[in-house]
Amino acid sequence: MSRVLPVNVMSVDVEEHFHVAAFDGRFPRDAWASQPSRVEANTGRLLDLFAAHGVSATFFVLGWVAERHPSLARRIVDAGHELASHGYAHEPAFRQTREQFADDARRSKAVLEDASGRPVLGYRAASFSIVKRNQWAFEELERAGYVYSSSVNPVRHDIYGFPDAPRFNFTPAGTGLLECPVTTLEIAGVRVPCGGGGYFRLLPYPLFRWALRQVNGGGHACYFYLHPWEVDPDQPRVEGVSWRSRFRHYTNLRRTEQRLARLLGDFRWTRFDRLLGLAAS
Ligand SMILES: [Zn+2]
Repeated sequence: MSRVLPVNVMSVDVEEHFHVAAFDGRFPRDAWASQPSRVEANTGRLLDLFAAHGVSATFFVLGWVAERHPSLARRIVDAGHELASHGYAHEPAFRQTREQFADDARRSKAVLEDASGRPVLGYRAASFSIVKRNQWAFEELERAGYVYSSSVNPVRHDIYGFPDAPRFNFTPAGTGLLECPVTTLEIAGVRVPCGGGGYFRLLPYPLFRWALRQVNGGGHACYFYLHPWEVDPDQPRVEGVSWRSRFRHYTNLRRTEQRLARLLGDFRWTRFDRLLGLAAS
């Protein structure tokens, strides 16, 4: 007899193809407005795919994007998804002062709530940038009115990572906030990232699926994430970045949509607010 496995969370970090940590320095903020925008069309592809599979997801939308595409937030909630915040300007939390971080978190929440007419409960920091040394960010998120966050990747990584954070939901000290770290698998005491993004595109799909099944088999929900630009193989190529950044950003873009379709069919998915019992509907 087979056991009922946990329901997982599907999430999307809604940003442009040039809002990426790997391209840091190539696209200063004042150059964003002059770049071709691809986010609306790419998010539309994901909305179509989720609709085809009957999946509801959480969309962490950048405030800067919602301001330029006011109908996008509406379109996301009208399609039955949860709207949450990816901050305003995609600045990693560890590069902001506490005050800057608080302002950015509040500004994005206000923009998204205005655009959608719905309360925004969830937050995801750019590049999973809540780490050991800036845990004050959790207090600022709670103060800004957020209820949960999914801003920690509890692994070692060259850009982000909070390797000694809990692997599963925890309440940061001194707050009433719930942090939902992106999914990892622990093998022989080593944490292996398997929550999405580049790992989803770079690992063979059966291996990735095996990893998520291991986590589900242990009784835990998986928290998966991807970006709209990952289903856009025709995006303009950025020159002059390191081979590692190019590899991370461009490998297997052409296969991602097909892989995602398999993932949607192979597991059960929902939105963060529903999994956490926060949703009104
Ligand atoms: Zn992001």
